[in-house]
Amino acid sequence: MLLALTDHLRCTESHAETWLVARADRAAHGWMIEGVLGCPVCHTERMVRGGVVFWADGGVRANPAAGPDPETSIRLAALLGVTDARAPFVLCGAHGVHSAAIGGMADLTLVLLDPPDDTGAGLATVIRGAPRVPLGERSVQGIALDASHAAADRIDAAVAVLVHGGRMIADAGVPVPTGIKELARDAAQWVGERVATSVPVPLMRAARDTRAT
Ligand SMILES: [Zn+2]
Repeated sequence: MLLALTDHLRCTESHAETWLVARADRAAHGWMIEGVLGCPVCHTERMVRGGVVFWADGGVRANPAAGPDPETSIRLAALLGVTDARAPFVLCGAHGVHSAAIGGMADLTLVLLDPPDDTGAGLATVIRGAPRVPLGERSVQGIALDASHAAADRIDAAVAVLVHGGRMIADAGVPVPTGIKELARDAAQWVGERVATSVPVPLMRAARDTRAT
């Protein structure tokens, strides 16, 4: 887990949005290998083992739909608008197989939610078992959703974490959510960008947290 990502992580329990406190028992070159992420509000602890964040016990694994063929990796990066960026990009589920290819295209921070395996840990931050994207509002540059992460109870939270203009990619059968303007689609996927919306989002912002913009 990239230690610098700690500022972006948020507890997913039902209380006001709060950042987490990291305790690294073993770290190297800015990455936490063993340690704990604690919530100062509800005191839930998430373990980091072997560089992987276990949000829930056991975590889950996506089935790899296909290997990381270069053409698909480049297409995914283009749709996400991958460029050097301070805000992270999030690849959900099977999209995680493209982490090595996309991570090599630019100086960027990658987060993998429930990827097929943990080989991306150390290049990307692997998080398993989170009930929704566990990052702060308006803190993510782009997100590629797979079917499970685009479920109705998750997609609004995925919209909320995007910066204005941030890209979202989902399967063609997923309804484009409020707050996303569709830019293009084909038979398999659509891509959209975050636009201003006054519709309430399910994340609550802590009054003192003014860092997320
Ligand atoms: Zn909490």
